[in-house]
Amino acid sequence: IGMILMKNTTGKKIWIVKNTYKKTQAIVSALEALCLEAGFVFDEENPEIIISVGGDGTLLAALHYYETQLETVRFIGVHTGHLGFYADFQEHELEQVVEAIQNEKPDEAFKYQLLKVQIHFTDGRIKTHLALNESVIKRASKTLVADVKISDFLFEKFRGDGLSVSTPTGSTAYNKSIGGAVMHPRVHAFQVTEVASLNNLVYRTLGAPMIIAEKDAVTIELENADDYLLTVDQLEYFYDQIASVTYSLDGGVISFVNGGHTGFWHRVKNSFIGEVK
Ligand code: NAD
Repeated sequence: IGMILMKNTTGKKIWIVKNTYKKTQAIVSALEALCLEAGFVFDEENPEIIISVGGDGTLLAALHYYETQLETVRFIGVHTGHLGFYADFQEHELEQVVEAIQNEKPDEAFKYQLLKVQIHFTDGRIKTHLALNESVIKRASKTLVADVKISDFLFEKFRGDGLSVSTPTGSTAYNKSIGGAVMHPRVHAFQVTEVASLNNLVYRTLGAPMIIAEKDAVTIELENADDYLLTVDQLEYFYDQIASVTYSLDGGVISFVNGGHTGFWHRVKNSFIGEVK
């Protein structure tokens, strides 16, 4: 009597994005074998799930690579070094990663808000970027001078090295290094943090990080200059003739597979505090 053993195939379309470290390759090989066994289909062009293996930088790269498909893809991260903020599975938990993918449902995915970065050029052109962590506008060597507007309200004239605008999930990254507050990702707001502002009898800025309500946009109107640097997560743009940059929290969302997620404050503690003695 013949019996056909059918593998439990979910047929989920997946793709693995990795960094170039040797250690990562060994983990990816093991993961690929488990994914094949689980019946997943490798599809680089139209994946449903993207597994990022590496660090937070790898996940940021994966996000920007699949930026136009964010409505249909979910991400899951495996970290190969220290605990990642977006990569919360460890290399010895590959079975759990596969299990989480098998059991996940698109409508139960974790969603994080993305920052919309809209650049207005002096000739009227507009270019839009999305940031998961932050976008920073800086000037190479001279003082950056800009009017800062909250929606249509002229708030201050900023002079200094630059301004960082971060999402809640980006608040633990560059934003934290420059004195910004750490925000829980469920707080629907974004944060503007100064980079080395000039404050003296003549020049005046708030001198403190600002949490902006999601209903508002922040516009930074720049002096005419051709040496601005704009970062969007790990990406750098040297644009000429920027008139202004508008930041808002309506850049859509990035979805993460719901399963095995470490709580936010646990991640913060594990990364920055360690054991409390
Ligand atoms: P990278 O890989 O050198 O990353 C720098 C560090 O930032 C890594 O330890 C990474 O784990 C951590 N990181 C990234 N996102 C984080 C987050 N949301 N919360 C907590 N830590 C986070 O650099 P990369 O691959 O080019 O990544 C770009 C990101 O690195 C940027 O978005 C920026 O936030 C961060 N960064 C931070 C500093 C700083 O703190 N002085 C400087 C440059 C870049």
